[in-house]
Amino acid sequence: MSDVPSFVVCPPLRCCRQLIDSPLSTCGSDAQWQRPGKAGQAPQYFCSQHRGKDDVPIAGPRLIRLVRLQVEVLYAGTSSVPAIAHAEALAQLESAVTASRGMLSINAATSVVGRYEPQPPPPKHAGGRPKAL
Ligand SMILES: [Zn+2]
Repeated sequence: MSDVPSFVVCPPLRCCRQLIDSPLSTCGSDAQWQRPGKAGQAPQYFCSQHRGKDDVPIAGPRLIRLVRLQVEVLYAGTSSVPAIAHAEALAQLESAVTASRGMLSINAATSVVGRYEPQPPPPKHAGGRPKAL
């Protein structure tokens, strides 16, 4: 494992068991077991329900693929005081990220006051579906 970077954080390991015929539909539950990977590959991690008979408990250093998403998340502020609005929005986001077994690493929080004017809904024709433009 010396040719890979070292991480100082490790989000909760999640079960990789594919549930249906889609690479995006996995169990995702907390993993307690690992299955050694082929030479040069990371092991696979499994929950107790999906472990195999030869899987071993996760212990010691582990090789993981750390997925980093760089996104912009927008909330309507709940306070006129920027620091309070930022902290409340951060708490909301942290709760959602933790519930999905992720870890939040915040780089910056900004806000601006502006006006939003809702757009009228698209016109509907007799069938009840939006009219094509
Ligand atoms: Zn599982």
